[in-house]
Amino acid sequence: MNFEHLNALKALLSSPKKIAIIPHKNPDGDAIGSTLALWHYLQNKGHESTIVSPNDFPKFLKWIPGANKILNFERENKESKECLRQAEVIFTLDFNHLGRVGQMTENLENAEATFVMVDHHQQPSDYAKIMYSDVAMSSTCEMVYNLIKLLGDVDEINPDMANCLYTGIMTDTGSFKFKATTSNTHRVVADLMDRGAENTEIHHRIYDTNSPSRLHLLGCALKNMVILEEFSTAYITLSQEELDRYDYQKGDTEGFVNYGLTLDGIRFAVIFIENKEEGILKISFRSVGDFSVNDFARNHFEGGGHTNAAGGKSDKNLEDTTAYFKSLLPQYKKELTQ
Ligand code: 5GP
Ligand code: MN
Repeated sequence: MNFEHLNALKALLSSPKKIAIIPHKNPDGDAIGSTLALWHYLQNKGHESTIVSPNDFPKFLKWIPGANKILNFERENKESKECLRQAEVIFTLDFNHLGRVGQMTENLENAEATFVMVDHHQQPSDYAKIMYSDVAMSSTCEMVYNLIKLLGDVDEINPDMANCLYTGIMTDTGSFKFKATTSNTHRVVADLMDRGAENTEIHHRIYDTNSPSRLHLLGCALKNMVILEEFSTAYITLSQEELDRYDYQKGDTEGFVNYGLTLDGIRFAVIFIENKEEGILKISFRSVGDFSVNDFARNHFEGGGHTNAAGGKSDKNLEDTTAYFKSLLPQYKKELTQ
């Protein structure tokens, strides 16, 4: 974060403010962990802050300290809108364009507040007056840690905040193994453990939460996997009917896409998940090496993200979408197989 923006933020927070904190739609561990850590921090500093999530989040994140205080824009719509209207400052965390908050987009566009962005995705848009955007960062949680440190308050990180931040760093780095995991990420994590993060317990609460139906859904997903050796690509489909058959709960498909990449020689993995209610397919893209799924998602599926992890969507059905997807691959053959 540059000095100009840091000083502007210091000035902004020098007196008590009404603050709204926003994660992206379908928030993951990093989005929930970072918004909650910041929420604890701002509350302790005497600000009146509220997290407004565009929609609900998975059960395996509900234990995180403070999670029960998060407003759900879909469920607590009136209260959420009022909060956004009254906010003097709006922090947007773990996303960088307003289209990422679904139905809340309009309310953010019309808000009077000063916007602060903290995010590690590529190609940020320019809605925020104060920006801390760094695509080299492992996670927004690592950035919130840095931010608190830059504000001179690292000693105010209590065990609750440490647990929030540890959670997001752990989930966004695939438990400290993805490329964006640096020695500094490990130093931050070590400091969070010293400040009370319960590493083993967090791992257990996030990853050891399978239900029999989720494992059966995983079995179905793996059976559906199509391997296109010619393009070093593997993709999975899940129809609404299959999700219903295995009693799909929010968050159940988290991590499924990664299985494609565990195959020797596969460098591009995709999952297409039907959502009948929204009339779309939600798509996740993962890669290893230089193939940019951010560009791929941006260019063909109205999405974006990072070089090796991105998301997008399609309005077509599963059959047409996968046919379109396969028709795109020949133009990337060299990149995918070199
Ligand atoms: P996931 O596949 O786990 O939903 O998301 C992978 C990464 O891409 C995350 O960093 C997420 O924030 C981002 N992402 C997911 N869906 C979209 C999307 O529709 N648009 C953009 N710009 N980013 C997305
Ligand atoms: Mn993130």
